[in-house]
Order: sequence, then structure tokens, then C-alpha cells
Amino acid sequence: MSAAVCVRCGGEKSDYASSCPACGHRPTGDGLPIAWLLSAHNLDRKGREAVAERIRAGETLRPGRAQLDKARRAMGHTLASDPGLSTRQRVGLLATCLLLTPLPAWVMGLWWIRSRPRAGVQALALAVPTTALFTAIGLWGVFGTS
Ligand SMILES: [Zn+2]
Repeated sequence: MSAAVCVRCGGEKSDYASSCPACGHRPTGDGLPIAWLLSAHNLDRKGREAVAERIRAGETLRPGRAQLDKARRAMGHTLASDPGLSTRQRVGLLATCLLLTPLPAWVMGLWWIRSRPRAGVQALALAVPTTALFTAIGLWGVFGTS
């Protein structure tokens, strides 16, 4: 079963972001939201077949702004399209966790988990162990020295 239709030739491919086995076209940049619209994320099998027919007939697809916005929003919500945090951001967040408090990592993680899932998971991955560490230090401070 094909999961996406090639924007250029109407051929079938497994994933909207992959290159087309028939013509080699690989969507990039502004082409990605259009490719997403022609995939199983947006169209059922019948819809994909219909759009493939139109492309093979030589029709150029011009999705409306609302459709493109829908695609961009949906793509932003998937782990694969979220680039996550840069190394510098992660180091900065880790330093904040260790030197001050893990609280910002918790807040950021929970804030991002829906809009930027990868960044959210990364922030929580820093928050959990540093919170455990702080708790351990806190308990040691209370019970360990008496
Ligand atoms: Zn193609």
C-alpha cells in the first residue's frame, strides 16, 4: 500500500518526505507541506488515487493557504519534523538544572511536549534525573549529617 503520492509524477512512495522511486523527486522546503497533503496523513486511498490521476494528467497542484497551514501545523507536531534542542540549549538547560533548580526544565518540558515533542522530551530527560539528584542531596542534607 502506498502512503504518499509523488508531487511531480504522481507515482507511489512509502513516505511523503522520501524520494520518489519512479522519478527521483524528493520534496524539500516549501514542497514538504504539499507532499504531506498528498500523503496518507491527509488523504485516504481514494483521495490519493484521485490526486495521482490529476498529476499524471499534467495538472499542477496549488493547495490553498488553509491547506498548507494545516500541513505545517501537523508536521510540527510530529517527532520526526521537530529538530529538538541544540546541544548548546541542552547544555544550558542542564547547567541551570544543576546550578539552580530543575524547575525550568520541567516547565519547558511540559510546555513543549505538545508543540515541540522532541524538545519537550529532551527537557524532561534533563529534569527527571536532576530532580532525583536534588532530592537525594536534600535528603542527605537533612538526614545524612545528623
Ligand atoms: Zn515521482
